[in-house]
Amino acid sequence: MKNLVIFGAPGSGKGTQSDILVAKYGFDHISTGDVLRAEIKAGTELGNTAKGYIDNGQLIPDSLMVDILAATYDALPKTKGVIFDGFPRTIPQAEALKAMLAERGTAVHAMLELNVPDEMLMERLINRGKTSGRADDNEETIAKRLGVYHSQTSPLIEWYEKEGIRNSVQGYGSLEEINAKLCAVIDAL
Ligand code: ATP
Ligand code: MG
Repeated sequence: MKNLVIFGAPGSGKGTQSDILVAKYGFDHISTGDVLRAEIKAGTELGNTAKGYIDNGQLIPDSLMVDILAATYDALPKTKGVIFDGFPRTIPQAEALKAMLAERGTAVHAMLELNVPDEMLMERLINRGKTSGRADDNEETIAKRLGVYHSQTSPLIEWYEKEGIRNSVQGYGSLEEINAKLCAVIDAL
């Protein structure tokens, strides 16, 4: 059982690479963005709350997000391992994840960081916006999300470095190249 955090800025390819890793290793996948979008689509109270933040490029408050994450995690079969995609996004979330897994007798085994320059992220997300139908994939909201990433999420790079489990991988090039680098880290665990 491996718990992996896939980490990176918006548009860094977390979802794309997670899908490839899920197919290869049989991991369970928790994408907090997907969980929230499903709630919005279903028109739940949580979805309505989340929509206000997401459409504005902001993060959902930590307390709410931590509860969602724990409920999602506990509902999974957890046989081969779990990929956390889009969580943690703040230091309090990383601390909560660590505590939650410790309570369940486990831990995060590796943080996989996809490194992509901002200009490329901007271009990818604007392109994705043409087909994704995502209200937050427009130029103004993308710029806000990148700002939020740099101020609230990127401090996690140093946090995981101190935990001794940070693995940084170049997040551009072909999907196969990037994936091979991630697999090399996973296979060495
Ligand atoms: P990627 O393109 O790499 O998959 P992303 O930033 O485009 O990443 P999602 O991970 O799908 O998008 O998240 C979309 C939005 O959902 C975020 O901008 C944020 O508002 C909200 N969100 C998702 N995860 C969290 C979290 N852990 N804490 C707070 N808000 C979150
Ligand atoms: Mg995603």
